[in-house]
Amino acid sequence: MFLTITTTGTPERPATELGFLLHKHPEKAQAFSTSYGTAHVLYPEADAERCTAALLLEVDAVALVRRGKGKGKGRGGAPDAALAQYVNDRPYAASSLLAVALSGVFSSAMKGVCNARPELPGVPRPLRIEVPALPARGGEGLVRRLFEPLGWTVTAEPVPLDTEFPQWGDSRYVRLELESADRTLAEALRHLYVLLPVLDDAKHYWVSSDEVDKLLRAGEGWLPGHPEQKLITSRYLSRRWSLTRQATERLELVRLAEADDSEVEEIDNAVEAETETEERPTPLAVQRREAITAALKASGAARVLDLGCGQGQLVQALLKDPAFTEIVGLDVSMRALTIASRRLKLDRMGERQAARVKLLQGSLAYTDNRLKGYDAAVLSEVIEHLDLPRLPALEYAVFGAARPRTVLVTTPNVEYNVRWESLPAGHVRHGDHRFEWTRAQFRAWAEAVAERHGYRAEFIPVGPDDPEVGPPTQMAVFTLTTPKEAKAA
Ligand code: SAH
Repeated sequence: MFLTITTTGTPERPATELGFLLHKHPEKAQAFSTSYGTAHVLYPEADAERCTAALLLEVDAVALVRRGKGKGKGRGGAPDAALAQYVNDRPYAASSLLAVALSGVFSSAMKGVCNARPELPGVPRPLRIEVPALPARGGEGLVRRLFEPLGWTVTAEPVPLDTEFPQWGDSRYVRLELESADRTLAEALRHLYVLLPVLDDAKHYWVSSDEVDKLLRAGEGWLPGHPEQKLITSRYLSRRWSLTRQATERLELVRLAEADDSEVEEIDNAVEAETETEERPTPLAVQRREAITAALKASGAARVLDLGCGQGQLVQALLKDPAFTEIVGLDVSMRALTIASRRLKLDRMGERQAARVKLLQGSLAYTDNRLKGYDAAVLSEVIEHLDLPRLPALEYAVFGAARPRTVLVTTPNVEYNVRWESLPAGHVRHGDHRFEWTRAQFRAWAEAVAERHGYRAEFIPVGPDDPEVGPPTQMAVFTLTTPKEAKAA
């Protein structure tokens, strides 16, 4: 595994400053032992005009396997799989190991600290980075989509499987070259630290929750708002669902705090465009909003409540459809409402649009007269955030007091959790979920609610309806059958 960093110099800014920046003297070859092998730093060339530092990682495949395994545990599984742990590409290809070595050997450089020459790290300079063999799942196209938005000129040449047998086609490796005329080294290292493992897409270690902090630290200043932020986050966190969600929420807050509003719109569009590319499935949240919008339209609703509206994504989607003449978002969280209001640009909306939308703070655990007289109410992924004993209060506030003609309730189907690749057994999908129900539990609750308040309940799957475990999201559509007056009579 091999990576080189080259800079060129001028009389005032000699290229050998790279040695100060990396905290590694150009005239010495140095070796650092790590838990999975030895990292060497050497300078193939070092003069005032041009200086190249190379990081060479000699991986001890056996140590790597020993380290990864729990002590004394037997190794089950196919013999091939056991062998593949020793005979694989780890020693040759850049990967998460190289990223870890980068952060270990060049930690001060990555933080942008240089005690000997404190002014140096802040100075952008010409940089050229080469990685001769980078495993790239997603190919050259993805390499470009990751690095080009960060201002790098990218060369990514597929490496043929075997030069003697070109008919075999290309391997999953590329030779990567990144060039930039003015870059700080710290920035460059932080890009590599995150994006090399993202491209490799096979971390050598178990990803735990402190990886979210590492990602956000290394991603500071460039990851929030990167057009491939979702893919980067998900792959970096080995597709662990709950971690990816945590990271996404924190990045969203950073982005909203940093971005001015025009930028917010651009990024939203980029995210939307991304969800339309065919190789990636439509995110569940998008499918949910589509299912809700379709059910609302089928009910003929024009004045709609979004109860527990969160950061306002559904309100925003509904505003695009003129069939909805009034949309009210309610949430107990002021922070969520602040983000929603920025997302919707409430303060800059034209008068006619502004007349269609309102955000209210309130709790669904209490009867609220402001919620009376609407055609429909949506509770999207909200009930599971209430403690079970509070649920009857919500039920009364919505079905007993507000009493719209249509109520849509969505909630996770816990049976589907086994299908989320990286959701550990027995875990709920979100830290704040107080419960997650099976299809039978949800149905029983919904039917009892309908019965008590004069509604009829129908059930609609959202997302892929798995023949065994059902869909990831379950939705109940309640329709009022007994007008209040008739019930009272
Ligand atoms: N409806 C959104 C957000 C779901 S997250 C979506 O589908 O994406 C759940 C939301 O319910 C959070 O924003 C939380 O603040 C809100 N919430 C939780 N308890 C609530 C209560 N008692 N009253 C109102 N909102 C509540």
